[in-house]
Amino acid sequence: MSGPEPKPWIMAIAPYIPGRSTTDDGRKVAKLSSNENPLGTSPKARAAFVEASGNLERYPDASGTELREVLAAKHGLDPARIIYGNGSDEVLHLAAGAFAGPGDEVIFVHYGFAVYEIAARRVGATPVIAPDNDYATDVDAILGCVTDRTRIVYVANPNNPTGTYATREEIARLHARLPSHVLLVLDHAYAEYIEGDAEDGGVALAETASNVLVTRTFSKMYGLAAERIGWGYAAPEIIAAMHRIRLPFSITIAGTAAAIAALGDEEFVAHTRAHNAEWRAWFSAEIAKMGNAGLRAVPSQANFVLVLFEGKLTAEIAYKGLMDAGYIVRWLPGQGLPHGLRITVGTADETQGVATALRAMVQATG
Ligand SMILES: *Cc1c(COP(=O)(O)O)cnc(C)c1O
Repeated sequence: MSGPEPKPWIMAIAPYIPGRSTTDDGRKVAKLSSNENPLGTSPKARAAFVEASGNLERYPDASGTELREVLAAKHGLDPARIIYGNGSDEVLHLAAGAFAGPGDEVIFVHYGFAVYEIAARRVGATPVIAPDNDYATDVDAILGCVTDRTRIVYVANPNNPTGTYATREEIARLHARLPSHVLLVLDHAYAEYIEGDAEDGGVALAETASNVLVTRTFSKMYGLAAERIGWGYAAPEIIAAMHRIRLPFSITIAGTAAAIAALGDEEFVAHTRAHNAEWRAWFSAEIAKMGNAGLRAVPSQANFVLVLFEGKLTAEIAYKGLMDAGYIVRWLPGQGLPHGLRITVGTADETQGVATALRAMVQATG
């Protein structure tokens, strides 16, 4: 008997593999596999979330008015150019849904965010993978992949899982050389973690260009991954097209209230930023000390570090050893990185613990 047949492009999707939170034997250990905020959530956001539980019988505001206005005021933006979604994942999918289809091509980098390929295939488009430059985004390689069929270029900046960052000049050059019919999606999930004032100019591009969408999330810096609030900024025509296919009520009342409160807690954000910068640098320096054992930290501007294992100690063995020691990190053989572990910057204790466990493994491996 034959049942309904899924579309062939749907069956070509390799399912998304989320970061684990328990070990093989079911122990709950430090979760450094999903780039969540190790310092938790702003107490103001938590209070707003609890307060919103008084309204469970009501549908959320389908036009997201308050969220858009608060975001616009905070970042100096036009609220009419803001879209929001169930995490920025939804916004990334909306872009593909509105601007790509069968026969079209969607470009992203070799070591890129897994959602881009799923979003492209979901609408029947063809994923095109641009080569990296020692794990970093290579703007010229992306431009070299552009054809008449290209509809979208996704660039996470900083990139996940590499943590690498393309400068404002590189992003400007990429945009300047892209044909105007190609939508450039700049995924700023980790933009708040960039050192100094080195932001990539994406928001300013989205303000003036007809073909740039910037996406942002409350899941990382703002510590609200559970509540699934993301947003995007682009020309009104792009926003209007995406609104046509958006689920009307994809963001919740409580999540929205928490996000708005989180935006107002600058102290929590500053604290998270400083903590991350300190321990990202410390951890990267510790890995550098293990360089003669073949360990290498890819320079990161995000809240995680990609550690490459190019010596006797393999990433797979280190992954299992870290799990035994109580730390779950991300091993990504499915993303072409069987030799890499992506490790979220945790609390001070967690980050020191991971370094200690790695050092012990390096010594034991000889
Ligand atoms: C975490 C992440 C997101 C954000 O996901 P949400 O759906 O907003 O939780 C988007 N892009 C990248 C590259 C990420 O790593």
